[in-house]
Amino acid sequence: MRISDRLAAKQTFSFEIFPPKGDLPIDQALEVAGALAAEQPDWISVTFSAGGSGNSANTVSVSGAIERETGTSALAHLTCLGSSRETVDLYLEALAEQGVLNVLALRGDRAPGKEAIDFAYASDLIAYIKETHPEFCVGAACYPEGHFECDDFETSLEHLKIKQDAGADFLVTQLFFDNELFYRFREGCARWRIKAPIVCGIMPFTSVKQIQRMAFTCGATIPSKVIRKIAACGDDEAAQLEAGIEYACDQIVDLADNGVDGIHIYTMNRPVIGHAAREALLGCGYLWS
Ligand code: FAD
Repeated sequence: MRISDRLAAKQTFSFEIFPPKGDLPIDQALEVAGALAAEQPDWISVTFSAGGSGNSANTVSVSGAIERETGTSALAHLTCLGSSRETVDLYLEALAEQGVLNVLALRGDRAPGKEAIDFAYASDLIAYIKETHPEFCVGAACYPEGHFECDDFETSLEHLKIKQDAGADFLVTQLFFDNELFYRFREGCARWRIKAPIVCGIMPFTSVKQIQRMAFTCGATIPSKVIRKIAACGDDEAAQLEAGIEYACDQIVDLADNGVDGIHIYTMNRPVIGHAAREALLGCGYLWS
């Protein structure tokens, strides 16, 4: 199933998982994928980490197993960093062999040892895939608060328009904790004539440490209501997780009420998060059982 076709037909519900790195067995990731597939998402996306101890080979096998063994569509991530034209061709051919025809084309997180080879920006990778492998449905990342390396919000939208014009069929947002920022971004997209469907990526906070890391690595604003909610849990980690899931469920119900194109849950490989999200969306009528 092409994700763009699904988005044209309905509001979607989907999950992200990450495969293990290095030589670790993939059984655990497959178990997580199986548990999440039972929640009947429209697709499950699988992250990609290039280079040394990266997980790019496992991205292909986990994505293939999701399609084959669970009957759910898979969206395989792919980054510019660490990829040449040749490795992109091989990667896409391996995906196609496994029946995976959806790819999320990204620049990639900067890290030592991860270099740009043939593609500087995600838009270059999107254009290459569309030209050489037109059978693929291609998604791209977008940033409700602007990308943290970009000087201002409008320039970030201008760069997003370049990705759409390069051929991006749909967009998935970076995580955000304040829905008002997303609604402002959606208006900005309309102003820039960015018409590709926008899927909202939501990640529940699971602990104080995790939310601090998130704020630094992706630049997401943490509203005071989140800080108050997590502070009320003290050092109780189980309570922090529960509070994070509750906050995320309130967020997705509000997004559902505001007619978003899709809701994508960053599950961090925890099926409990996917299950809670589905229950919340059943409760508000976004999903039907
Ligand atoms: P780009 O669109 O290339 O943008 C990168 C920067 O360059 C931005 O500041 C942008 O404004 C600027 N820019 C873009 N085009 C131009 C231009 N023409 N001229 C000048 N400046 C320009 N990372 C991983 O490593 N693996 C993953 O699996 C992964 N999955 C992700 C999934 C989602 C939904 C999201 C939102 C992010 C994901 N990331 C992942 C993180 C992503 O790689 C980083 O956010 C990265 O910093 C930017 O990626 P991009 O594709 O948006 O890059």
